[in-house]
Amino acid sequence: MNKPAELKLETVPAWIGGKRVSNASRFGDVYNPASGQVSKRVVFADKNLIDEAVKAASAAFPAWRDTPPLRRARVMQEFLVLLKKNQKALAEIVTDEHGKTLADAMGSVQRGIEVVEFACGIPQLLKGEFSQDVGTQVDTHTIRQPVGVCAGVTPFNFPVMVPLWMFPMAIACGNTFILKPSEKVPSASLRMAELFQQAGLPDGVLNVVHGDKAAVDAILNHPGIHAVSFVGSTPIAKYIYETAARNGKRVQALGGAKNHAVVLPDADLEFAADALIGAAYGSAGERCMAISAVVAVGAAGDPLVRLLEKKAKAIKVGPGTDQASEMGPLVTGQHRDKVASYIETGVKEGAKLVVDARKQKVPGEGFYLGTSLFDYVTPEMEIYKNEIFGPVLVVLRTETMESAIDLVNKNPYANGTAIFTESGGAARRFAAEIQVGMVGINVPIPVPVAFYSFGGWKSSLFGDLHVHGTESVKFYTRTKAVTTRWPHQDTPAPGFNMPTLG
Ligand code: NAD
Repeated sequence: MNKPAELKLETVPAWIGGKRVSNASRFGDVYNPASGQVSKRVVFADKNLIDEAVKAASAAFPAWRDTPPLRRARVMQEFLVLLKKNQKALAEIVTDEHGKTLADAMGSVQRGIEVVEFACGIPQLLKGEFSQDVGTQVDTHTIRQPVGVCAGVTPFNFPVMVPLWMFPMAIACGNTFILKPSEKVPSASLRMAELFQQAGLPDGVLNVVHGDKAAVDAILNHPGIHAVSFVGSTPIAKYIYETAARNGKRVQALGGAKNHAVVLPDADLEFAADALIGAAYGSAGERCMAISAVVAVGAAGDPLVRLLEKKAKAIKVGPGTDQASEMGPLVTGQHRDKVASYIETGVKEGAKLVVDARKQKVPGEGFYLGTSLFDYVTPEMEIYKNEIFGPVLVVLRTETMESAIDLVNKNPYANGTAIFTESGGAARRFAAEIQVGMVGINVPIPVPVAFYSFGGWKSSLFGDLHVHGTESVKFYTRTKAVTTRWPHQDTPAPGFNMPTLG
């Protein structure tokens, strides 16, 4: 980047202790994927800036922890109002930096807002347990206390929704938070932090820092951070889990995916194909719950592939700001080229390329790529084994539902899956036997609503607890059990054996 251009670019600052912080020795470029041009630069945090953020979050913690949950909920309610008022503005930021269509961005912001709605019920969610007379004149109750300073590291593909999976619940539980969003899409997090301040959140309770591995490593190694939530690719999720756990932190690290849709011969194929097209190519396939592999069972195969071919070729690719666009660009030129390279790979591996992105006309400027569809893909092929994270759908064929279940269960990823069928019995059996965290029955993207928890199994999640829903309350609090006896005249004399209260 040359000097004069750099001077004109808006800088996305960090947000520490309720203030914008722009001084840094390193900056990153933020692109507008629809134009392919650098649109902003973003402050990259070093160890010192992370120290500052931890200081601010630690200083804010005692007062926020001691704020009654009802009052915390009131701040959350104000935040909810402001998020709703600003939903379109936030979605526009998402489209600007990520590239997805505005309608898709609006939907993803809505799903994030629903977590804040859930967080407004925190007084109810923090209720403990109570047992009277666990022993003679002895009672026990539990209390849920916040963990301390928590951090969140998020991916590029949901710049509003995934941060909202984390910080509202952490903060509602009485923690303070440091958010490190993806450096590719930094602006929405800053905007949300400003809105939260406007809602009455005390300074230092939510802080936002930006950057790459250096910033994340400083978070993972900082003794003042007690819990880390991560969402991103599997290799980084594993690294985050191992490093943070070694450093004594509580961790939940959600990883990548290869989500299968199993289509049985009795399914309504037109309905299934429509659902699969949206789930495979929506957001240009850059969704952790995107369907990227279809398993066509028996006679479903040929007619399903014909429908998918027709529909995939008809998808309108264009800027996310254009209402007619159904699929926007990919996030960066580098990612677009990587996704495109899988088309060559698939052909070399012997899969049948039914729809070829290279033959489609897409806008010249920007990081666009058309749709691709492969048929007769087999489990040892790279296009099946890897998470491509782009508009490439692969179809595998099996003879029976049992072999389809076996195929899905052998895959190391286990985020989401779906079955398309008219048979209740087959669907019920699928839900019971499939080794995957989230299951859809005639629902292609089974992202649970905010009052259920979201998370995969196997290489799609490192850690024990999922995000949002009641599992997030468990992640962001520690349980304390209090056993009580009020002494009076007939209290027994001191004993030296292990107490058995009865
Ligand atoms: P990514 O793993 O490259 O980056 C995620 C975050 O980690 C970013 O904030 C990034 O700055 C940071 N990071 C990157 N490299 C790092 C390193 N070497 N050390 C420490 N930190 C590092 O993921 P991405 O490309 O931003 O997002 C796409 C991935 O996220 C896909 O694999 C997708 O499946 C996954 N994802 C998963 C879920 C889920 O719920 N399981 C949800 C959304 C996205």
